[in-house]
Amino acid sequence: MDLALDGLHPLPVPIPYPMKYVNLVLIEGDGLVLVDTALDLPDARHAIERGLAERGARPGDLDAVVLTHHHPDHYGLAGWFESQGVPVYMLDVAIERDHGWWSRFEPWLEQSTAHFREHGMPEAFIADLREVMEATHRRIRPPQNPRPLTDGEDVQLAGQRFTVHWTPGHADGHLVLLRDDGTLIAGDAILDRITPNVGKWVGSRPDPLGDFLRSLEKIRGLEPRQALVGHYGPVLEDVDARAREIERHHKDRLRFLADRLARGPRTAWELSLELFPQEGLSTAQRRFAWAETLAHLVHLQHLGRVRALPETPVRFELVG
Ligand SMILES: [Zn+2]
Repeated sequence: MDLALDGLHPLPVPIPYPMKYVNLVLIEGDGLVLVDTALDLPDARHAIERGLAERGARPGDLDAVVLTHHHPDHYGLAGWFESQGVPVYMLDVAIERDHGWWSRFEPWLEQSTAHFREHGMPEAFIADLREVMEATHRRIRPPQNPRPLTDGEDVQLAGQRFTVHWTPGHADGHLVLLRDDGTLIAGDAILDRITPNVGKWVGSRPDPLGDFLRSLEKIRGLEPRQALVGHYGPVLEDVDARAREIERHHKDRLRFLADRLARGPRTAWELSLELFPQEGLSTAQRRFAWAETLAHLVHLQHLGRVRALPETPVRFELVG
């Protein structure tokens, strides 16, 4: 393992999800900056407080918090830091789009419910899912006044120089931070062991999987010498090889779905049960499977290989 992280400290924090931990990153130098925040749960707060205490600091001592993206396990405690006087930064795109998931939760929940129905989720499942989403919402402290970062911007974080790069796909407003020495703070833009979920959610950009594949290309083009990743890892050494592996995985899934559609039109829900046949997936995992299937179908639609039939629930049909 390359330990030349000089002034970057991965901080694993427990989360109640299958990955078990989210890796925050403490940037230490001329000051102290935290990247990502975990969920608002006592275990997570204690882990963060312990990690900061090892560096002689308390949460309110941070100079800034930077969020790679708005998912609960990265964003959940942002408002807690902000309430202690720490400015919270997100990509401008994330503030405009994704932040509304949590800052305007009720309308987002209703729009999401309509989107679930439109793409074939059964009513009983939707009822369970709404409870899961409401429970997650209770573990989130949205920042009131997130400050914007811009794609391509150079920033000094704790006296270290980074460039901000927009990497949509896993989330519309996902950012990564590239340090001058080629170390990438990657969030969930690329992961080891699991592939980042790519979903078509209500209000998502038109083709999240297309975005995601382009973001993998972009990351390869940055030629990072190592990446700190949001789950597992925490250090991913061969970023280029992993990016190509993930790309192949999605191409395989696109082929699988096209093969299934050759048998006749199907909804995203029906196809998600074939693409992810595992039994015993939790409600949240089943929802990720559905959203990921839909993202693949929408990508095929953008490639002109599939069309959506004008009906509810929407069935997708192979073109030609
Ligand atoms: Zn995420």
